[in-house]
Amino acid sequence: MKRKEFRKLISVEKAREIINNLQVFPRPESLALENAYGEILAGDIVTEINVPPFPRAVMDGYAVRAEDTYACSETRPVELKLLGNLPAGSDAKFKVSAGEAVEVSTGSPIPEGANAVVMVEYSSEGDGTVSIYSPVTVGENIMKAGSDIRKEERVLRVGRKLGTREIGVLASIGKKDVPVLKLQVGIISTGDELVQPGEKLTSGKIYDANSYTLHAGVHECGAFPLLYGIVKDNETAMKKTLETAVSECALILTSGSTSSGAGDIMYRLIDEIGETLAHGISIKPGKPVVIGIIQGVPIIGLPGNPTSALMIFNEFVAPMLRKALGEDKALKKTESGIMGTRFRSEGRQQLLPVGLIRGRVYPADRGSGAITSLSGADGFIKIPSSTEFIEAGTPVEVTLFGEVEKPDLLIAGGFCPGLDLLEDLSGLYFRTLFTSSSGGFSAIASNTADIAGVNMPSSDPRGQDGILYNVPTIENMGLSGTVLVKGYRREVGLIVRQDSLVSGISDLPGKHLINRNRGSGARALLDLKIAEFIAGKGINKKEFTDSIPGYASGVKSEVAVCEAVASGKAEVGVGIRNCTEKNGLHFVKFAEEEYDFLIRKEILEISEVRKFLETLTSTEFASKLPSGLHVYERTGEIISVE
Ligand code: AMP
Ligand code: MG
Repeated sequence: MKRKEFRKLISVEKAREIINNLQVFPRPESLALENAYGEILAGDIVTEINVPPFPRAVMDGYAVRAEDTYACSETRPVELKLLGNLPAGSDAKFKVSAGEAVEVSTGSPIPEGANAVVMVEYSSEGDGTVSIYSPVTVGENIMKAGSDIRKEERVLRVGRKLGTREIGVLASIGKKDVPVLKLQVGIISTGDELVQPGEKLTSGKIYDANSYTLHAGVHECGAFPLLYGIVKDNETAMKKTLETAVSECALILTSGSTSSGAGDIMYRLIDEIGETLAHGISIKPGKPVVIGIIQGVPIIGLPGNPTSALMIFNEFVAPMLRKALGEDKALKKTESGIMGTRFRSEGRQQLLPVGLIRGRVYPADRGSGAITSLSGADGFIKIPSSTEFIEAGTPVEVTLFGEVEKPDLLIAGGFCPGLDLLEDLSGLYFRTLFTSSSGGFSAIASNTADIAGVNMPSSDPRGQDGILYNVPTIENMGLSGTVLVKGYRREVGLIVRQDSLVSGISDLPGKHLINRNRGSGARALLDLKIAEFIAGKGINKKEFTDSIPGYASGVKSEVAVCEAVASGKAEVGVGIRNCTEKNGLHFVKFAEEEYDFLIRKEILEISEVRKFLETLTSTEFASKLPSGLHVYERTGEIISVE
C-alpha cells in the first residue's frame, strides 16, 4: 500500500481556530432529574412556587402572637391557652387569638394569627395551658414563605452545569424533568489489535482504553458520549461505522489509524467521504491528528496512544465542547506545581505528560520514545518551542486529567509484594515505577523518585557470607544526600515446575534458563551465587554460564519469569518465593537477600516518609508479610552514606 505523506502541519493557533469554528450544535432534551447530574441546562429555570411554600417554624415550640409575650420574664411568665398541636406536614387549621398558643415543631406551618415561635426551652406546659418565660419579637423563629426561593424567580440560568446543589434546587421547586443540552458525541476506536474490556485478551491484543477515557472526558464536559466500539483497520468497516455515527451525532471522535503508516486509513477515508480540514498539528503529540467534516458532521481523529489521545482531547476538544454547550468560563482543571527535576525539551511545542506528587511535577514520559503509561500521569504541562530546558524548581501549570487523586510518594526500584502491604497499612497512596534495582538508584540520583526499593548485591567482605547489599552501589555511584533504610529479607531461589529435578545451582548446566534483566538484583545475585559455587572447583565461570542456555536472556519482571516456566518456554527461572508460590511453581531457595529503601535525605522528616517508616517497623507489617519475606533485627535501621 502506498504511504501517504503528511500534509503541512498546522500551527497550534490555527488548529484551535479550526476546531473552535467547527459547527457543533447541541439539541435540547428533557431528562429526569436523577439523570441530569453533570449536564448543561438548556433553558432558564423559573420557579412557580415559593420555597418554602408557607411560613414555617424553624424551632420546636409554641406559635404565639409576639405581643402576648412582651411583658413576660423568667420570674414572671405569661400563661397562654394551648389550642392544640400542629405537627410538620399537618394541614390542621388553627386560629391564634390574643392569649392563645399552638404547639409546633420544626417545619410546621405557622397557624393563622400567630407571628412568632417561642422555643420549647423557654416554656413549660400546664393543663391546657403553656407558660412562656422569655419574650419573642414578631417573626422570630419563623421562616417566611419564599424566603429561600421566591415565586417567579429565575433560579438557574441557561448554560449552568448541574451539580449536586443545582439538582437540590430543582428538586425543591418540584421539577421532575429538566431541559438539558444534548450534544451527542460518537466515539470510535480503531485498530485490529484492540479488544473490549471484559473480553478475553488473546495473543498480540491490547484492551481498548481510548473509548473509555474519551467517554469519561466527553461526559465531564457535559456532553453525551455514544460508544460505537472497536472498528478494525479495514476501510469498509470503518466507512460503515462512520456513516452510522454521522447520522446520529453532532461530533465524532475517533482514535488510532491517523498516522501515515500503511495500515492507517482514517485520514484517507475522511478525504474520500468528506473533507479534510487539517492533518497534523505542530505540537508533540499532535502530528497524527486529523480534523474533517463528513456530511456536515465534524470529525476529529485523535492519536492512538491513550495518553496522547487524552492530552489532545483535553487541550483542543474539551474547550470546544464546553463552549458549544454555553459554558463561558473554560473550566479546565489546572494545578500549580514546581518542576521536581530538570527536563530537556525537544525545541518544539510539546504537551508533556507529568505526575504531580506533593506539588512537585515529574515528567511521566520516561525518555527514548517509550510510550507513556496512562497510570503514571496525573495530567500534562505545555512547553513552548522556545524552551530548551525546564530547570528543577521552575513553577509550572499542570492541566489535570479530570479529578485525579494525587499520590503521596513516588517509589521506584524493584518490584516487591511487601510494597503493596506497606501501601495498604500506611494508608499512603504510592505511585510506583518498577525500574529494577539499578533503575531505582538512578531515579534517586536524578531526583525523580522519593524512595527506591533496592536489592542489589555486591561481592564485599564487609557483608555476611561475602555479600553486601546496596551499600557498595551507593558508594560507587557517590549517592551522597541519601540514606539507606534497611527493609526486610526475601527468600530468593530457582523457580521450576513441580516435577522438575533441579535442586540447586549445580543442576543448571544444560537447563533452559529464563533470567532477569540486567540491573535487577535477582540477576546479580544469581551471578554471585554461581561465582560462589564454582569457587575452588577449578571451573571457569564463563564456561559454566555458557553451558546454561538462556543465561544471557533477561525479562523485566518476576511475573514474566514465572509465566515462562509455567508455560514450558523455560525450565528454570530466578526470583523470590512469594511469586513462585502464587504461580503454583516449585521453589529452590539459594539465598536470603536484603530488600532496602533508598530515600533522599531531605525528605526523611516529611510526614509521608515518617508514616512509611513507622509502617515498615510496625508489628502489623511484620505479621502480615507474605510468605518468603521476613523482617529481621535490622529492619528500620538507617544507614547514612557520606
Ligand atoms: P495508531 O495511531 O493506530 O498507530 O496507534 C498508536 C498506538 O496506540 C498503537 O500502539 C496502538 O496499539 C495504540 N492504540 C490505538 N488505539 C488504542 C486504544 N483504543 N486503546 C489503547 N491503545 C490504543
Ligand atoms: Mg492503529
